[in-house]
Amino acid sequence: MLDQQVLVLNRLWQPVNLCSVRRAFSLMFLGHAQIVHTDPDRLYDTHDAESWLEISLKHEGPDVVHTVNHRFRIPAVIVVPRYDQLPRQEVKFSRQNVYQRDDHTCQYCGVRHDLKQLNLDHVVPRHRGGKTTWENVVCSCISCNTRKAHKLPAEANMFPLKEPRIPRWRPMFTMVNGNADLFPHESWNHFLNPSSSKVKVSR
Ligand SMILES: [Zn+2]
Repeated sequence: MLDQQVLVLNRLWQPVNLCSVRRAFSLMFLGHAQIVHTDPDRLYDTHDAESWLEISLKHEGPDVVHTVNHRFRIPAVIVVPRYDQLPRQEVKFSRQNVYQRDDHTCQYCGVRHDLKQLNLDHVVPRHRGGKTTWENVVCSCISCNTRKAHKLPAEANMFPLKEPRIPRWRPMFTMVNGNADLFPHESWNHFLNPSSSKVKVSR
């Protein structure tokens, strides 16, 4: 429950990121974030920890978390007015984030591929001491990945187009046209305009 995703809005109420429920609560308790709540008339109001507790008391449903003394409803959207001033969180190393860093482009043939045709490649193969890190893993299409196999770049004469590095951006999220029904919360629709082809997080 604490790992569910919460949409993060900046001071202009533009979507800028996703965070976990856990982080949303910690930002709220620190006073950095307010929870955005939709009432039945589809109006939005914002809450700090105290007023969110009141909302939570009236809420009946399974989407709650318990602290020692209280029970809080899980938020779907938060607004962080000073978002740009928050320290950046390290980008987690994951398959998805490597794909995003490399823009879904095979780092050997330079072709942008669908997820189905993508794979991760260890530039220096694992059995040659290569690590599973941002600096040694790139996005690769399955056919290049197969061609390179367990060879070093010099042996295969295949070098990544860009030197792989730890990304300095915040993880982006991409919402493709017509995917609005995939949003985990209906209240996201208002902020993530599905008519634009992509919503990207600011770098
Ligand atoms: Zn390729």
